[in-house]
Amino acid sequence: MKNIIKTAILGLIAIFLTASVQAFTLSIHGQVKDSSSNKGIPGVVVSDGQTCVVTNQKGEYLIKSDSETVFNVFVITPSNYEVPVNKNGVFSGYIHVDTSKKKNECNFTLKKRDTKCDHYIMNYMGDPQAMSQRPHSIEACKYVSENLRKINDSQTLPVYQTFLGDMVTNEIHVPGKAEFFFELMANCGGQSFYLPGNHDHIQDSKVYHEAIAPYAKHFGPYNYAVNIGQIHYIFLDDCAWGESPTGKRFARGLNKEACRFLQEDLKYVPKDTPLMISMHCPLTRSYNGIFYKIEVGEKELFEALEGRDVHFWYGHTHDYTNYPYSQESIDKRARGVRSLESHTVGRCGGGWCCSSEINQDGVPRGLVEVEVNGRQLTWRFRSFDKRYPDDMNIHLPSRFKDSNGEADKHLYCNVYLWDSKCPKPELWSNGKLIGKMERILSGKQATMEPLYAEMYPQWEKQGIVGFRKEVPKNTQCTHLFGILPPDNIKDGEVRYTDRFGRQCIQKVAW
Ligand SMILES: [Zn+2]
Repeated sequence: MKNIIKTAILGLIAIFLTASVQAFTLSIHGQVKDSSSNKGIPGVVVSDGQTCVVTNQKGEYLIKSDSETVFNVFVITPSNYEVPVNKNGVFSGYIHVDTSKKKNECNFTLKKRDTKCDHYIMNYMGDPQAMSQRPHSIEACKYVSENLRKINDSQTLPVYQTFLGDMVTNEIHVPGKAEFFFELMANCGGQSFYLPGNHDHIQDSKVYHEAIAPYAKHFGPYNYAVNIGQIHYIFLDDCAWGESPTGKRFARGLNKEACRFLQEDLKYVPKDTPLMISMHCPLTRSYNGIFYKIEVGEKELFEALEGRDVHFWYGHTHDYTNYPYSQESIDKRARGVRSLESHTVGRCGGGWCCSSEINQDGVPRGLVEVEVNGRQLTWRFRSFDKRYPDDMNIHLPSRFKDSNGEADKHLYCNVYLWDSKCPKPELWSNGKLIGKMERILSGKQATMEPLYAEMYPQWEKQGIVGFRKEVPKNTQCTHLFGILPPDNIKDGEVRYTDRFGRQCIQKVAW
């Protein structure tokens, strides 16, 4: 018995020693300077992706890091300084840490903004997914880059954009693949932020830091933040590799490192600052608006966000949904969050796996354009494809066959970013309201988008569909509206006013 106790105590001491040795094996220090005065900037938050510290009066900082799990050190750019970007406009406010050295000196220089950046555009785009085995996915990326450029060039406000993960499908560790992706996106204009998706990890790795290492090398930090105007933007990796309780490659949620960064970062963010948090896998939505089970870090996530106003932005599912939660409709797990809205953004390059011209919910290739004015946010959908309008798309009566093979006489309107705070679209003819259009639900909160269902077999014939031979069963649209116009009405217009009061009108005749 004595021996057992002795062994146990020795074991505990060994664990304690290992833990304390692993915890702080690396010190990162340096200075954050102002480019014009060449003086240190006090009060800037610097992070290694886990711990956050603030620079002193001389702009100096010191972080004690864990060499096993730290890849980069970065500044959380204050809003009166410009976001550091490289020649392609990609966030570059980070430095790779040399973990073979015990001490790293990492200095940053920031450029003060000439004018306040309070009014600007933040674009959100899902899943570019350049994959060299699928030439059409490369074409889709080129298409995105060219058309994003056109939209960005037409803006009069400064433009930022977030790519919501899954950039280099399953190939991120292959030499040259990440560079190839950056080349594809080099001329898209604006300033870009990236975050990792499940396909940006090494797929067969079971250890998180091994799985994320190539991403950290090519794209930089994977849990980080930036201040632009009055908004605090956070980017997190919510693919917790190697932590799935059901034996999958990854768990949906935040691992310890992501939780730690979130808690540390928010220590320096005033409680009333609106948060825009981007992740890859939707954690707070499903087709009926109810939260998915967050497999890891759920408690920590909502504790960190208590009393705050939060917008979550996600990719991954290749469709668009928007859930503004009220205190009544919010899942009880997130009750402490002051306000919460959950946005899922479809694939900017079209439906996977064929890079088709529409996503599975009928939304064309494009982006969600958020106009940020102070703390006020308004958004709309911008189409890359001029055959498909911005905001909404209409399917005329008799365009499709119903389930009996008869002409379907409904007029349909797909309002891409519709949510429960938006009014319904209306059909008008000769200056008179014919009727409000009703939401089409064939399942609980969604239906099959008829245009996608019609087009899918054509893509299948062209051999570009990939591994799925039928319209995927999970293909659902939560924002399709329809009306059965009276027989004597053959033209008119569909009018839709979005929740921000912006009116969209499309003339129709059939
Ligand atoms: Zn994904």
